[in-house]
Amino acid sequence: ATPAATMVGSTISARNGVLFKGSDVLEQSRGIDAVVFDKTGTLTHGEMELTDVVPVAAFDDPATDGGVTPEESDATDRGPSIDPPADEDAILTAAASAERGSEHPIAQAIVGGARDRGVELSSPDSFENVPGHGIRASATGSEVLVGNRKLLSDAGIDPTPAATTMERLEREGKTAMLVAIDGELAGVLATADRVRESAKTTVETLTDRGIDVMMLTGDNERTARAVAAELGIDPDNVRAEVLPEDKADAIAEIQRDGTRAMMVGDGVNDAPALTGAHVGLAIGSGTDVAIESADVTLMRDDPADVLKVLNVADATIEKVY
Ligand code: ADP
Ligand code: MG
Repeated sequence: ATPAATMVGSTISARNGVLFKGSDVLEQSRGIDAVVFDKTGTLTHGEMELTDVVPVAAFDDPATDGGVTPEESDATDRGPSIDPPADEDAILTAAASAERGSEHPIAQAIVGGARDRGVELSSPDSFENVPGHGIRASATGSEVLVGNRKLLSDAGIDPTPAATTMERLEREGKTAMLVAIDGELAGVLATADRVRESAKTTVETLTDRGIDVMMLTGDNERTARAVAAELGIDPDNVRAEVLPEDKADAIAEIQRDGTRAMMVGDGVNDAPALTGAHVGLAIGSGTDVAIESADVTLMRDDPADVLKVLNVADATIEKVY
């Protein structure tokens, strides 16, 4: 864009809570074919709440799924000399104490939910983030894992007794996490997030304009599809269980055929994708690294401001030329 065009664009947009970085952004924001949204913290508020605490003893009956019954799993997994299965409070104490080491929205939901339920927490003695999978910590005198199926199976713990419970929670659009204590599956936690108010109409408007709307998330397939359905995003346009290091590859893949993609994200894990996309948009309350990697910042955290970026880009160029 010419300096004049950039100036006009920046002036209009600053007043509208949209900040452009650099002089080419307006021009690049024309002719966008696809808008790719991160889910958590972008389409949703990213303020998760703890909704479910399910100990092993309260798991949904997996018999219909061809899995073992709780009785059978009791008999095979735990000998009589081992502690009784953890109850809700024990699971929350261990999981929330472990999650105090993490800044992930899931961690905040688990810690907040435990506090709300009056559970006493301690600090983890050691803590390790397993990006895209969960956390591993030494807390309350136990080895604690909180995360997805892969986290547990990588640690040699079979997550299948929780399958039916996990699937039910995920179909409700919740993020379900497994908790293991000292090498034993202890229970399932679930968190839920609210979609941002304007997300649905934004998806509609973009689609009406002939722009492909996509979702790119590290969350599991079932949860991602439930949220996509709520927003009117085509299930074929959902890329789920994408590891942080693979988000940029997913953008490259989308752009391979010449598609001009705009990526909208908030997280540390979105930063490479924001850089790799034709245009990157960061949510204003997102992480510093996302904002640094993006070409545009949406100061109001409002997905509808994506439309403003497209409109300003079109209007500015028309006005100048
Ligand atoms: P997103 O793209 O939705 O921000 P992430 O890549 O951060 O997702 O996380 C992917 C998945 O890894 C989560 O859905 C969750 O199952 C698991 N996970 C990540 N961080 C944590 C954590 N602190 N505690 C438990 N599980 C976690
Ligand atoms: Mg996010």
